[in-house]
Amino acid sequence: MSRIQRNFVAGAWWEGAGVMENRNPSDLDDLIGLYAIASPEDVADACAAAAEAQRAWAVAGPQVRADLLHRIARGIAKRETEVATMLAREEGKILAEAIAETRRAAQVFRFYAGEALRVAGDAIASVRQGIDIEVVREPLGVVGLITPWNFPIAIPAWKVAPALAYGNSVVLKPAELTPGTARLLARIIADAGCPVGVFNLVMGPGTSVGAALVDDPHVKALSFTGSVPTGRRIAQSAAAGMKRVQLEMGGKNPMVIMEDADLEVAVSASLNGSFFSTGQRCTASSRLIVHASIHDAFVDELSRQVAALKVGHALAPDSQIGPVVSAEQLASNLAYVDLAAAEGCEVRGGERLALSTQGFFQRPALFLGARSEMRVCQEEIFGPCASVIKVSDFDEALHVANDTAFGLSAGICTRSLRYAREFRRRVQSGMVMVNVPTAGVDYHVPFGGSKGSSFGPREQGRAAAEFYTSSKTSYVFAG
Ligand code: ADP
Repeated sequence: MSRIQRNFVAGAWWEGAGVMENRNPSDLDDLIGLYAIASPEDVADACAAAAEAQRAWAVAGPQVRADLLHRIARGIAKRETEVATMLAREEGKILAEAIAETRRAAQVFRFYAGEALRVAGDAIASVRQGIDIEVVREPLGVVGLITPWNFPIAIPAWKVAPALAYGNSVVLKPAELTPGTARLLARIIADAGCPVGVFNLVMGPGTSVGAALVDDPHVKALSFTGSVPTGRRIAQSAAAGMKRVQLEMGGKNPMVIMEDADLEVAVSASLNGSFFSTGQRCTASSRLIVHASIHDAFVDELSRQVAALKVGHALAPDSQIGPVVSAEQLASNLAYVDLAAAEGCEVRGGERLALSTQGFFQRPALFLGARSEMRVCQEEIFGPCASVIKVSDFDEALHVANDTAFGLSAGICTRSLRYAREFRRRVQSGMVMVNVPTAGVDYHVPFGGSKGSSFGPREQGRAAAEFYTSSKTSYVFAG
């Protein structure tokens, strides 16, 4: 029996009220570990400890905060192989992607170490004589962070780092499918000398541990990334508790291929955007909207490259696409493959693969001849499946691109300045990509969507200050 990996509460490692198994989706015989499930009391204790610790952290000053964030970044870099291997083992993305994600997490901590030194305010003259006005940013207090399994270190990093940089304390609830990476991050944060209670980790199911965090009276703000139904539930609970809330949810991201696109660029951007990380990215291109005059050449070349993708164990050096994360997700993906055929698409790929280890392997799928109103073009699948919709001109392409409840990332491949300009202006999404994949973003600029994809202020870059701080306006009359 392996040792139980524990929660981190008030600066100590806590047992919890139960245990959950963490298994490798590339190889179900590989039991990664047993992880403690926090009890509702553990969550309450974590939030109380965070509230207590935040009072000193709020006034610790920018140098102390910057130094801690730098030490965390160094800790991640030092343990890069260990973190990335854990990430690939429990989430299933290939090791190269897991290493890139781990590096990204360190970069995010470094970025916010700098931001901790640049928390600026405004000094403005009053409209009244003799009065000076100062507007400053203050921390909120305890923030609850609830994260999904698909970026098990990058998403916790881009929530934890700004929360700490701006003087908040944190209770992190990672996804139940990927507790291992979050526990390693907690270990790194503890080893970096984080003051007791400033960072806490509570693991376990969303419905018990997550819900307890959402409802805890010490928590002043909630940042969530995950599915739409959970986001909606959290927003309702947050409203009842008058908590600030930030939600990043689904996508049904379009990639438009115009008739003048560079075919190589278009195929490469679509292959990457639709299938890398097994299509398990909220910014994945799940709708390829292709001009009729380039459609057949694009589909032929993309199909050839998709069929050649090597699906395999996340840790095997020649794998290009790892497994689907879980049995439930695989069953859902396979049901969408059947649905695509039932809705009238020509399906290429998409079948479950039996490999030498028992895992959730699936061949990437293209749904050809799709139409915008089909369910496979409207519902987020969150797997290696992309619909191809043929259109006859730019206006139709734009109309289809916008024909969705979501609005996270939208791409266009074209050599026309006019198409690119029009698309950037008229597409309904928080992020627009011209000749680059819809997935894959920088960390020092805002991230987020429009319509049903996001709610509340943007994440990442300097935009994060909007969520993690509150402004205070003071008026001074010198007499
Ligand atoms: P996914 O489909 O990606 O698993 P979820 O929205 O179910 O998306 O999960 C995202 C995160 O939200 C996870 O950490 C999960 O445990 C948590 N979660 C799920 N349900 C709730 C809930 N009712 N309250 C709070 N957190 C929840």
